[in-house]
Amino acid sequence: MGRRKSNRKPPPKRKAVEPLDIQFNCPFCNHEKSCEVTMDKTRKSARITCRVCLEDFQTSVNFLSEPIDVYNDWIDACETAN
Ligand SMILES: [Zn+2]
Repeated sequence: MGRRKSNRKPPPKRKAVEPLDIQFNCPFCNHEKSCEVTMDKTRKSARITCRVCLEDFQTSVNFLSEPIDVYNDWIDACETAN
């Protein structure tokens, strides 16, 4: 009596490499999720760049900073500039 082999393979699980959202809407060109944050916590700096209009912004971060903080800093800086 043979056991029936299941042909159904479980779908490959993709590891969540980005548990946090690092893509944001651009305040300049208004594209959705066109801005990506790169954190460099060893240098305590972070950069956010829009891949559509190429606007970028650099700010200082600490070990508790999240990409959303970088984005918020950028928005704040934009509002101060205007
Ligand atoms: Zn943009």
